[in-house]
Amino acid sequence: MAIDDIIARMRAAERAADRPAGSVKLIAVSKVQPPARVEAVLDQGYRIFGENYVQEAQGKWPLWRDRFDGVELHMIGPLQSNKAKPAIELFDAIHTLDRPSLAQKLARQIQSSGKAPQLFVQINTGSEAQKAGVLPAEADAFIADCRAMDLPLAGLMCIPPESEDPAPHFDLLRQIAQRNGLSGLSMGMSADFETAIAHGATHIRVGSAIFGQRSYT
Ligand SMILES: *Cc1c(COP(=O)(O)O)cnc(C)c1O
Repeated sequence: MAIDDIIARMRAAERAADRPAGSVKLIAVSKVQPPARVEAVLDQGYRIFGENYVQEAQGKWPLWRDRFDGVELHMIGPLQSNKAKPAIELFDAIHTLDRPSLAQKLARQIQSSGKAPQLFVQINTGSEAQKAGVLPAEADAFIADCRAMDLPLAGLMCIPPESEDPAPHFDLLRQIAQRNGLSGLSMGMSADFETAIAHGATHIRVGSAIFGQRSYT
């Protein structure tokens, strides 16, 4: 299956970068995919998935979690503050912490629920006007603010500009993480995950290369 090919390429990229086998986590991004494609991957034994929309994930994953043990779910899409509560209930990790109001909301919900998903701060490495994420120049202060709220930070996440070489963006993310003592790097998608692994990714988010093209119609 396609996921076996991706795992093989991931292992090869780890080897090529002199990194231990298994040091990178593959998040299979199942947003808007036909259920049969996702179930085929679950049937095969894979358990780590990513979704972009709280409501869509709420409609699919509680049932799959009843049928398949050990599912680990990652939120990788923009998160509205009013969805912080269901997001914390559903997801094991949130990769899109990108603004103070969301940090405050998450901190409150984590305190009251006792659940603490791993959190990644999304950095807008290309400083693109239309893209979510904390600007690189504001990253250190934002990370410090999150820590002051006792948020469980696991690392940083980025989505490089579409038309640029992603490598400098991956390096920038790694630099910001290193100087802030964060080990997690969520970076790399279908088109560039091997480059991301060469530049230190710990989590790659791969959708279409596993499940096929998404159809939004
Ligand atoms: C959809 C999505 C992915 C997966 O993209 P592919 O190109 O299909 O691998 C990864 N990360 C984020 C944030 C996404 O929204």
